[in-house]
Amino acid sequence: MPEPCGRTFDEALLSGYVDRALVQRDEQRVRVHLEHCATCRAVVEDLRAVREATMTSTFETPRDDEWSETPRTESSRLLIGLGWPLATAWAVLLIGYALWGIWQETDNLVERLLLLGGATGFGLLFFGVLLDRLKAAKTDRYREVHK
Ligand SMILES: [Zn+2]
Repeated sequence: MPEPCGRTFDEALLSGYVDRALVQRDEQRVRVHLEHCATCRAVVEDLRAVREATMTSTFETPRDDEWSETPRTESSRLLIGLGWPLATAWAVLLIGYALWGIWQETDNLVERLLLLGGATGFGLLFFGVLLDRLKAAKTDRYREVHK
């Protein structure tokens, strides 16, 4: 038999207490009860364990901004490692070539300034992405070591 609890509130409040979603008055009511009710403390511990398990699995879900799937093997990691710089270099050359073509066709100063501004912006973006990739690669290696 569970010991007599004397709880005067619904079990939903315990769940709300774990989620810190209660108004101050309810929160206090639950806290005071928990101080001398081992049964409800156990319930709260259980709820917390479930919440933590849920949060942990959410945390381990790959984030949307991780472009590539996690490489499964050393060779796929190598191919992806080579593929990204090649694909990026190709995109840079293509856009650079297109911009150069427009540059040759115009002698309008404003248009040239616009081109230069666009090229600079693209270059900055490119290097930002490159830094991110390098950092991600380092993190991957770090994860690998600790597996
Ligand atoms: Zn209780």
